[in-house]
Amino acid sequence: MELWYTEQHTDNVRFSILVDQQLYQGQSDFQRIDVFHSKEFGKFFTLDGLMMVTEKDEFIYHDMIVHVPMATNPDIKRVLVIGAGDGGTVRELCRYPGVEHIDMVEIDKLVVDVCLEYFPSTTVSLNDPRVSIFYEDGLKFVRSRVNEYDLIIVDSTDPFGPGEGLFTREFYGNCYHALKDNGILVNQHENPYYDTYQHSMKRAHMRIKELFPITRVYQAHIPTYPSGHWLFGYASKTIDPIKDLKGDAWTSLNLETKYYNLDLHVGCFALPNYVKELLDHATE
Ligand code: SAM
Repeated sequence: MELWYTEQHTDNVRFSILVDQQLYQGQSDFQRIDVFHSKEFGKFFTLDGLMMVTEKDEFIYHDMIVHVPMATNPDIKRVLVIGAGDGGTVRELCRYPGVEHIDMVEIDKLVVDVCLEYFPSTTVSLNDPRVSIFYEDGLKFVRSRVNEYDLIIVDSTDPFGPGEGLFTREFYGNCYHALKDNGILVNQHENPYYDTYQHSMKRAHMRIKELFPITRVYQAHIPTYPSGHWLFGYASKTIDPIKDLKGDAWTSLNLETKYYNLDLHVGCFALPNYVKELLDHATE
């Protein structure tokens, strides 16, 4: 008998992984959580049947969501991370000695508890003294914050269920106010290839563009996410991710990274024509 995890990427496309064992299944107030073990990807977990993190390819997502903004401004000291209950984003941020404080706001405590048990490699820095964890809705948390952060990372689920509010105009507007003048906002920006995700991607881009003078989109190749082609949004009031890149300062930190490097930093902002077109004509 074979056990397969199958995820519906579109009405017509399914993605499957051969599973050795299901290690956990639970339901929180917000979502269903499953943990599996597979030969190809090691352990992985899903929320409401959607892939979140696999041991084999999580380095790609976490390198790109953290090192792109951190190399752009290695002076970042105060960071707000929204979502990210698996801990991978906080792990990468904690490698920077200059980061003084990280507020992590995860709506679902069960995600963190399950990840602490099954994913020691991503949760390794959640107990770093610089990290404060709040179990709250990120949409509400950011409402009361003004001029506080150098970097906000939105490491959320997709724009339905608990993650929906993190793709709204209200949320992006509050992030704008929560950031200092040289602040940077980075968010997971969905995939450009399939129609259903295209819509969320275009809407998010348009809403961020209405607020921030500098907005760019960059890409990475993540095998277990729909289509394998994933985008991230970059926005700032003043700092351009390429013109203002502090490559020498980042190199002097001697951080070993498995995916990110400075060539890729510049290259990841070069988008395929069809993606540029989608973003240029982004509407609600
Ligand atoms: N890398 C992942 C991806 O894109 O598939 C995202 C990982 S992380 C596990 C996403 C987290 O965002 C989840 O744990 C979820 O509970 C959290 N989340 C969703 N909506 C949220 C909200 N409104 N406020 C705070 N956290 C939220």
